[in-house]
Order: sequence, then C-alpha cells, then structure tokens
Amino acid sequence: MELWYTEEHSPNTRFSIKVKKQLYSEQSPFQRIDVFEAEEFGRFLTLDGLMMVTEKDEFIYHDMIVHIPMATNPDIKKVLVIGAGDGGTVRELSRYSGIETIDMVEIDKMVVDISRKFLQKTACCLDDQRVNLFYEDGLKFVRDKVECYDLIIVDSTDPVGPGEGLFTKEFYGNCYKALTKNGIMVNQHECPYYDTFAHSMKRAHKRISELFPIVKVYQAHIPTYPSGHWLFGFASKALDPIRDFNEERWNSLKLTTKYYNTELHVGCFAIPNYVKTLLEEAKHE
Ligand code: SAM
Repeated sequence: MELWYTEEHSPNTRFSIKVKKQLYSEQSPFQRIDVFEAEEFGRFLTLDGLMMVTEKDEFIYHDMIVHIPMATNPDIKKVLVIGAGDGGTVRELSRYSGIETIDMVEIDKMVVDISRKFLQKTACCLDDQRVNLFYEDGLKFVRDKVECYDLIIVDSTDPVGPGEGLFTKEFYGNCYKALTKNGIMVNQHECPYYDTFAHSMKRAHKRISELFPIVKVYQAHIPTYPSGHWLFGFASKALDPIRDFNEERWNSLKLTTKYYNTELHVGCFAIPNYVKTLLEEAKHE
C-alpha cells in the first residue's frame, strides 16, 4: 500500500509527497503537529496540514530569511525571532559571531520539542548560548519592547490559527517600536500566485507600508510551498537592502551557503510584473 501526504494549495489544486512512514502525530494546545519521512524530501514537519519545513528544501527558506538582512547590516547584534519552532532560522543566525543575543518567541513548545527530537538538521543550534527561548505569543511579547532589537525575523505560520495576530497592524507597529534606529524587520510574506495567499500577502504589505519608510519584497523558489514561488517582506527604518548592501564585507565573513549569494541578494528583489501590480494594488486598497 502506498502512503501519500496531500496538501490543498488552492480549492482546485493539491500537492502530494509519497511518504515512507509517519513518525509523529499529535494535537498540541495550538495546532496539529505531524512529522513524516519521505524518499524525495527527507523528514518534514506539517502544522494543521500545512507544510512548514522539509529536510531537502529548508535551506532555501532559512538562507533567504536570515542572510538578506544580515548582509544588509553585518553589525546586527540583537535579534528577535518570532515563531520558527523548527530551529532553522536560529541555526543560520548562530553562524554570525557578531550577534550577541537571539531571543526566540515560539507560541508552541511542542513544536520545538518535536523538532529537537525528529529534525536535528534544523534544531541543532537551539542550545547556542546566545539563544533565549520564550514560549509565548509573539504578538504579546513585542508589546512592551522599545528600541531593543536590530533585527526582527517573523518566521510564522500563515494568518490562520495562532499565526493570525502576527499579520496585524498592531503587531507590525509594535515591531517598529521594538527596533533600534537602523532596525530591520523581515517576514515570511506568503505566495503571490494563489488568490487566498495573495490576499494575505497584499494585506500584510499594505500594513507594513503604512509604518516603515523602506519596504521591499523579495522572492525565492521553494518547491514544497504553494506554487513554489515564495515572497519575503523587508521593512526597515533606515537601511536599504540594495543601496546599503556591502558585498565585500559579507563575502569577507566566508560563510558557506547553499542558496544565498551576493548576486542573488540583488537579483531576488527583481520581482515579476504581476507581483508588482499586486503590491501596487495593495497600497490603494
Ligand atoms: N517556515 C515556515 C513556513 O513559512 O511555513 C514557518 C515555520 S515555523 C515552524 C512557524 C512557527 O510559528 C510555528 O512553530 C508556530 O507554532 C509559530 N507561531 C504561530 N503563531 C505564533 C505566535 N502568535 N507567536 C509565536 N509563534 C507563533
């Protein structure tokens, strides 16, 4: 008998992965957590039936959510990560010796525990001495923070369930307040291709654009996410990801990366016309 994991990417589209075995399935107080093992993608984690991370393509997402802001400002010292329970974002951040503290706020401790148990590839650096883990709602955590982070990475689930608050104007406003004067916020910005995701993306873009003076969107190809075309939001108080990018400085750090490189740093901000139109529309809605 064949076992397949199937996810609905739109009401008329499904994406399937052949599964060797299911390693874990449990309902946490926040969401259903499943871990599978597959021939093609290795181990993968899903929350409420939505793909979070696979061993085979996680490097793309984690490279792009971390190295774009870090290469824009290699002097970043204090980082706040919201969500990111699989640990992949912290793993990439921990490679920068200049970073002094990484506060990670994950609402669901079970995701972290399960990732430590089954997904060592991403969870391997959660015990780095600079990492402080908080099991709280990110929306509440940032409310009383003032100018204390150089970088905030919002590595959340989609805006349904526990992740909903992380797409609100209140949340983005508090992130703005929590950032230092050269502060940068990067968020996973959904997929522009299917209507439901594009709607969330436009709403997030509008809200962020109303708060930050520098707002850009960049893209990556992530095979296991809906449509394979994924966006990230870059919002900042002062630094522009291309104007202020110091290619030589980042290359001098000699970090080996499987996806990110300094040509891609510039290239990923060149987005297709239909996405430009969606972003323009978002501002006037
Ligand atoms: N890379 C993934 C993606 O885009 O599909 C996201 C990975 S990470 C596992 C997302 C995490 O965000 C989940 O573990 C979830 O528990 C956490 N999360 C959702 N809502 C949250 C909130 N309000 N505060 C903190 N963490 C939250």
